[in-house]
Amino acid sequence: MYIIAVAGTGYVGLVAGVCFAEIGHQVTCVDIDENKVNLMKKGISPIYEADLGDLMQKNYAAGKIDYTTDYRSAYKNADAIFIGVGTPEQSDGSADLSYIATVARQIAETIENDCLVVVKSTVPVGTNDKVEQFIKDFLVNDVKVEVASNPEFLAQGSAVHDTLHAARIIIGTESKWAEEMLMKIYQPFNLPIVSVNRRSAEMIKYAANDFLALKISYMNDIANLCESVGADIQDVARGMSFDERIGSKFLNAGIGYGGSCFPKDTKALEYLARQDGYELRTIKAAIGVNKDQKTMLYKKACRRLITFNGLKVAVLGLTFKPGTDDLREAPSLENVPLLLEQGADIYAYDPVGADNFKNKYPAGKNSRGSITYVDKPEQALEGANVCFIFTEWGEIKAVEPGTYKEQMRTPLVYDGRNIYELADMNEAWVEYYSIGRPFIK
Ligand code: NAD
Repeated sequence: MYIIAVAGTGYVGLVAGVCFAEIGHQVTCVDIDENKVNLMKKGISPIYEADLGDLMQKNYAAGKIDYTTDYRSAYKNADAIFIGVGTPEQSDGSADLSYIATVARQIAETIENDCLVVVKSTVPVGTNDKVEQFIKDFLVNDVKVEVASNPEFLAQGSAVHDTLHAARIIIGTESKWAEEMLMKIYQPFNLPIVSVNRRSAEMIKYAANDFLALKISYMNDIANLCESVGADIQDVARGMSFDERIGSKFLNAGIGYGGSCFPKDTKALEYLARQDGYELRTIKAAIGVNKDQKTMLYKKACRRLITFNGLKVAVLGLTFKPGTDDLREAPSLENVPLLLEQGADIYAYDPVGADNFKNKYPAGKNSRGSITYVDKPEQALEGANVCFIFTEWGEIKAVEPGTYKEQMRTPLVYDGRNIYELADMNEAWVEYYSIGRPFIK
């Protein structure tokens, strides 16, 4: 059992902290956000993630995990401090490392025992070297400190499951001491561990994430071509999926990737390469395809309609994917402002993300249009002139094709997630545009 502190209780930090407690370590999670800490102490998860609340309550009741804003008390006697704070994108595409620097400084000024600092946040290659030097420069007490890289691969929406059943754990260390301690910390998970040096670990994270982004953009590129040559991307993907070299995952064409990782991690790696005088052409292309893909359906609708002004527009799905309340880089955030500028009266439905969306776009008049939030997809569709589907939530997939015909004033549907069979929409008399497939009129 190790005494572990975790800096940052977002998707990565909180899930890691709770899972470390679950396998028997003594954990203190630190966040600067007092509201979050108060919620967590009551057993309430500040983020929407399956199973997280239950594990928080169980381990808090067992005294295995605690939450605090007082980083001193959490860091001073910790065997290991995991850093899971944000590394958001800056305007030039580079990663903002200021949150990491703040935590590094706090660690340097408070630790009283030998301590392994483990960076879980996604950081550009070479950052961990700098973090170690930074901590040593500011170290107050005469203790041993080392930095290790341990990038995180969980996917939002299945974060707890992904952590407890990870395909692999990557550890990047520069000494036997650090490697052995991380191995022991992770041993109870009983998962494959890949041990490499720090820079390779940092690179594995970017290379893996950017490969997935590239795969999505590739399928979207092929989907767009399918539309112009009369092929169906779903049939094409199915045909490709039997080839084990390609695999069957991440072959779904759609309205572009979002979330807090793929967009920023592609840009950060491209930036890193550029700084080094290398042009990362594949990733640049993935970024470009994704940018255009997000407004693909809006542009299609503009070609079909004279104006959105005064039209009732149903928007089904706001989050960047199902199973999360996260809106970061969601296609809805690209499309809703365009529709509002055009004077659309939007009726938006999302089973989980509506409250977060309201913080950005409060209900009522907005730009030249307006936005209203509803509790059921059918309420958004009632009397609507056009519908956009941005997220494939189960509640949205459950809407029968016939409902569009019955509820909408004109059953005109733009589906960014290809959730319906073309034949079913045809049978229901819905005018249906999707991604990479023939349209149905
Ligand atoms: P997040 O924004 O959800 O959470 C970050 C948390 O850190 C916030 O609660 C914030 O209040 C807190 N924080 C900021 N400064 C702090 C400080 N000095 N001390 C303590 N807490 C502090 O971030 P996230 O989505 O969990 O991502 C964290 C990192 O992990 C990023 O680098 C991200 O790229 C990477 N990552 C994210 C995912 C994902 O699916 N979200 C997956 C893999 C890797």
